[in-house]
Amino acid sequence: MYIRTHQWSVWLALATVTMAALLAWRSVVASSGHTPSTNKPVARPQAVAAELRGVWSGYRVEPDWDTAMQKLSAANFNAVFPYVCSPGIAYYHSQVLPVSRFARDHDYLLEAVTAAHKYNIAVHARTLTLELLFAAEQTKSVFAATGRLMSNSQGETAPWLCPTDLRNRQLLERAVTELVTNYDIEGLQFDYLRYPGWDYCLCQRCRQRFTADTGAHITRWPQDVLPEGPYAVQFNRWRQQQLTDLLCDLVATARAVRPDISISAAVFPRWEEHRERFGQDVAKWVERGLLDFVAPMNYTTDRLDFATWLLTQRKAIAGRVPLMVGMGPLSDACQFDGPEQLAEQIQIARSFGAGGFIVFKYTDQFAQEYLPYLAKETTAIGASP
Ligand SMILES: [Zn+2]
Repeated sequence: MYIRTHQWSVWLALATVTMAALLAWRSVVASSGHTPSTNKPVARPQAVAAELRGVWSGYRVEPDWDTAMQKLSAANFNAVFPYVCSPGIAYYHSQVLPVSRFARDHDYLLEAVTAAHKYNIAVHARTLTLELLFAAEQTKSVFAATGRLMSNSQGETAPWLCPTDLRNRQLLERAVTELVTNYDIEGLQFDYLRYPGWDYCLCQRCRQRFTADTGAHITRWPQDVLPEGPYAVQFNRWRQQQLTDLLCDLVATARAVRPDISISAAVFPRWEEHRERFGQDVAKWVERGLLDFVAPMNYTTDRLDFATWLLTQRKAIAGRVPLMVGMGPLSDACQFDGPEQLAEQIQIARSFGAGGFIVFKYTDQFAQEYLPYLAKETTAIGASP
């Protein structure tokens, strides 16, 4: 009973804040005179418009990028976040990463950029930073054979690059350099910058680095650093630091070539819990100025969860950078009933002061069922007043 009462009081408080902010937002909109988007072509789209209205997508879309960009532009969207590579495969003409056989005749990133700029849409290339997702088995085998993968407490490896391996860091730095040098992209987004779970990475290299960095006297590995072990807390902080250090390197690499590039990360929603489990210390990344905005994947159909996550994320960010709220109407985590639910989440995000939203993900279904609905009211106002 207490829990129910408590939940209701939290919800009522959230609803009050939401309504107040929503009313304030509406008065701003009213005073702006509902200026429609003019979609005037400019030399380069703004990486982050007045309100970022984005979609995540695969490396290619149906039927083609030009059609997709035209539909997005018609609904006043202004950013796309196509998946362009993991450390084991690239969908563009890479000299650094193995190129997908599907991309030998197509440079999908170049095609996306060309089509996007025609419609004044910004491209934020999304890289799956540490997971070898979609890589060929042969590629994974080479990484495994050379000891570059993460391993768990059972000594089993996972198809993820260990962040303390210098070869891995150099590979990622080269890939970042190539992307920002060769492609006219507005942004770079780091996805999968995390561990697969609390049980990683426990490889011998991480053991050596941890003991060298901290002076810990490990007598039982990995038990001493696992939950209940004497170094559990210290090790967890250390492994978070490895990801923060890696991000720091990659951001410096990108900004050295393109100081204007917009850097972001797609992250899990429950930052404190997920920091402990997956090593993503998002608040630290923001505090250290590594990100231009954060894209939490707030994939849920539960209003209370959605609002609670937003509140805690906003508090952690403390106004340093915009929050571009990820919503998952077509994600594996949840399936929306329809576009009304997405429109409602967009309004809630606005009422919480979000800088924009990113929808997972662009598909033919999204173009058919969601975009026309949003364009009628939710995204009817131009993003660049
Ligand atoms: Zn390791």
